[in-house]
Amino acid sequence: MTKKGYKLTEAHKKAIGDAQRGENNNNWQTDIKDMSIGTIHKRVRMIKLKPVDGKCEYCHKVKSKYGITKLHLVNIRDHYYTLNPDDYQYMHPACHIEHQNISREKRKSQLDYWLRQQTINLKSK
Ligand SMILES: [Zn+2]
Repeated sequence: MTKKGYKLTEAHKKAIGDAQRGENNNNWQTDIKDMSIGTIHKRVRMIKLKPVDGKCEYCHKVKSKYGITKLHLVNIRDHYYTLNPDDYQYMHPACHIEHQNISREKRKSQLDYWLRQQTINLKSK
């Protein structure tokens, strides 16, 4: 389906460009890029309500080991901010720190695994 000698007008080229951009990045992502982390959290708090039983979604207790009942809204996707409520959990400040350390460890072990795979690939060549 080639159109020989068919010249695209500047407006047409722009329209194609815009359509492709729309495909790759939907408006939703563009929006979130313009949002501050505070705004994102505010938006998520509106769609993801605090657990009614007041339980932390990390340790499943009302009180943390320090006796704190306050719950923080935490991004569990390694700070890949979205407006998806499934990417967030309410947890105690102490559990938040613990979660962060665990995800950091996980990231490190993932990197180690990836590097090992790369080495294996090189050796087998
Ligand atoms: Zn907790």
